[in-house]
Amino acid sequence: MTKHAFLENNAQPVPQAAGMDHCPFLPVFGPPSVMFVRGQGTELWDSQGKRYLDFLCGLAVTSLGHSHSCVTDALTQQSAELIHVSNFFANPVATAAAIDINDLLESATGSSGQVFFCNSGAEANEAAIKLARKHGGRGRHTMVSALGSFHGRTLGALAATGQPAKHEPFQPMPEGFKHVAFGDIEAMSLAVDSSVAAVLLEPIQGEGGVIPAPAGYLKAVESLCKERGVLLVIDEVQTGMGRTGKWFGFEHSGISPDAVLMAKALGNGVPVGAIWVKEDVAKVLQPGDHGSTYSGTALVTSVVRAVIAEMKRINAPQLATSVGAQLTEKLRGVPGVVGVRGAGLLLGIELAQGLDATQVYQACLAQGLVTNAVNASTIRMAPPLNVSAEHIEEAVAIFAKVMVQMKKEVEAAQ
Ligand SMILES: *Cc1c(COP(=O)(O)O)cnc(C)c1O
Repeated sequence: MTKHAFLENNAQPVPQAAGMDHCPFLPVFGPPSVMFVRGQGTELWDSQGKRYLDFLCGLAVTSLGHSHSCVTDALTQQSAELIHVSNFFANPVATAAAIDINDLLESATGSSGQVFFCNSGAEANEAAIKLARKHGGRGRHTMVSALGSFHGRTLGALAATGQPAKHEPFQPMPEGFKHVAFGDIEAMSLAVDSSVAAVLLEPIQGEGGVIPAPAGYLKAVESLCKERGVLLVIDEVQTGMGRTGKWFGFEHSGISPDAVLMAKALGNGVPVGAIWVKEDVAKVLQPGDHGSTYSGTALVTSVVRAVIAEMKRINAPQLATSVGAQLTEKLRGVPGVVGVRGAGLLLGIELAQGLDATQVYQACLAQGLVTNAVNASTIRMAPPLNVSAEHIEEAVAIFAKVMVQMKKEVEAAQ
């Protein structure tokens, strides 16, 4: 194999450490610094045998921890029984999983609905865009979402994403998307005109920096949507499945959205997404309006069933609340931390001026703690919902050690 230019423009130690002379991946992710080979619960091990605590969970994905036996058992048993049939036919596993999801959302919204399974968060957003357009009808197809939001990387989901810099290289974006300041009900009211089919919001902006919606905002948006006959779609891809201390993040605000999007923790690392839609809205859809070869395969939905059952058994939302409160309190006591925001176990740690989140992230990683620099001044933590008290202690100790060191360096440089 010839030595490739990737080595220069995407130089990273990992393929070299793996004995390769070029990177086999498209250079869309930036240079990875660690190659993980094994995970168990909150722990990960890299190719050098070094141990880490995973306080990121692949971005709120492995909420039950790595290699959970409920996921392994579902995959091994179901793969020996039935993996996939066409959507011309039914399978009992997807049917049961859709009922499980509806049970959760019926309790959360007071309404019964129907589910479409897809493979990712972006695809759940794509389904919502098509639903909104069909529901709104010709001339009423615009989707309003928030600046700073994140809805995925496919073209429609990217157009809904309120981050102009991410649009720029791919202009022109599809028509029919508007963005307003997150939390500004006046701006929302101005934006929701007769061309608007739906409003799409995250209850806490995850990729946008762990920014919770201000108190009363979602409730006010819900009233506005009702008044103007516009659908309210909530993107729970990051906040759903117990992460914030409720099954879904919108439950903190007491709203009842028309459609709810989920993915990430729904499969604990096995790729799956879903859109749940209230029955009276879902009836605008007809056979042929949407689909996916892999919608509701028995293999993947067996994992969805196992994840929901295990989360119910351990009362994952309650754990997120109680453990999240403990972690938040400990983090607030760490030198150089000026604030902790978010809910449950989705936390954004605001660093004091002068401290660089990327440097803190890198130093934590070197010390065996996986986190994420969600922006220049914020570290995001999203440990497993079943993380132990010992691992919380250990992670906070590593983080505190790094922060003390960083503060010293910043002060010395001044
Ligand atoms: C991660 C994320 C998505 C995109 O999910 P993918 O599975 O990466 O396509 C969409 N919305 C939100 C809120 C997310 O956090």
